[in-house]
Amino acid sequence: MFAPSSRHLFLSAQLRRLQSTLVIAEHNNEALSPATQNALSAAKKIGGDISVLVAGTKCGPAADKLSKAGGISKVLVAESDAFKGFPAESLTPLILATQKQFNITHILAPATAFGKALLPRVAAKLDVSPITDIIGVKDANTFVRTIYAGNAVLTLEAKDAIKVITVRSTAFPADPLEGGSAGVDKAPEGNYKSDLVEFVSQEITKSDRPELTSAKNIVSGGRGLKSGDNFKLLYDLADKLNAAVGASRAAVDAGFVPNDLQIGQTGKIVAPDLYIAVGISGAIQHLAGMKDSKTIVAINKDPEAPIFQVDRIIPIKKTINSNTR
Ligand SMILES: Cc1cc2nc3c(=O)[nH]c(=O)nc-3n(C[C@H](O)[C@H](O)[C@H](O)COP(=O)(O)OP(=O)(O)OC[C@H]3O[C@@H](n4cnc5c(N)ncnc54)[C@H](O)[C@@H]3O)c2cc1C
Repeated sequence: MFAPSSRHLFLSAQLRRLQSTLVIAEHNNEALSPATQNALSAAKKIGGDISVLVAGTKCGPAADKLSKAGGISKVLVAESDAFKGFPAESLTPLILATQKQFNITHILAPATAFGKALLPRVAAKLDVSPITDIIGVKDANTFVRTIYAGNAVLTLEAKDAIKVITVRSTAFPADPLEGGSAGVDKAPEGNYKSDLVEFVSQEITKSDRPELTSAKNIVSGGRGLKSGDNFKLLYDLADKLNAAVGASRAAVDAGFVPNDLQIGQTGKIVAPDLYIAVGISGAIQHLAGMKDSKTIVAINKDPEAPIFQVDRIIPIKKTINSNTR
């Protein structure tokens, strides 16, 4: 077997020292989005010096939480009205200025709506290829991601000097945010207000249920539910299991439930301990969003439904109830 020489080990240690990773925090000024903690774990796998950028309006509380994470050297904070609503148009020049000032080699954000809106723009400005939705880190240049709606796994070596990466949160553990005491510094100052967008207002759905992408249990419904009213069955079950409620795209498109419940290739990616799929056929685009769940229970009247082909499935081959027949 190849044994690395001491010179080889010395060189890779030197290279790691030259690496500098910036994690872009997703937060609401007060609380961090859990996906930020997963992105932080991915950054630690890459190694090198790690900083976190927290941009917002009064984002001190979010920055304080991050400063407690072990293994990071600094938390950079940028506060400005320009970051109200966290628009990619204002955050991009801030990230570019930070990259330049600190010679950042890796820029990471969660592969959420926030990260997906932001990092392609950053990559375009840096003239590099974005590396999206990674599920693994082999080394500082080599990353793993899925392609063909999750049907193949690709390992890619990035040749760009600056790597711009979004991280699939279900593929990395959440950093516990403890054991450290990083310094909190100011991010580079500038006029980051964009003429292209203006934040007007936002309405956030309030729910006592767990958040879909971090829930341990999910009850999910498809077109087989036949109506939005029948989703009440799933909400009642979810309440008993302390579960989040999800849906297939067909159920969302039919207007049974709002589209922030959609799971799949063009929806949210989830990997709970328990996923109960009710009246969902198991199209590959749906499986792409949930097939890493630890245990999958499928309730479907069609014994030939593709969802029954998934590994780790507990099949319940029956009709849901008389209202949905
Ligand atoms: C580019 C692209 C992206 C897409 N992205 C997504 C995505 O992100 N997420 C997603 O979900 N889909 C996505 N789709 C759509 C996907 O291809 C399927 O059309 C969709 O997942 C089907 O949803 P469904 O399983 O609820 O409906 P159907 O395929 O119609 O299945 C309904 C199931 O319910 C069962 N059923 C019916 N009545 C009952 C009953 N009374 N009791 C028990 N079982 C019953 C039926 O046997 C059937 O298996 C995408 C498609 C494309 C082309």
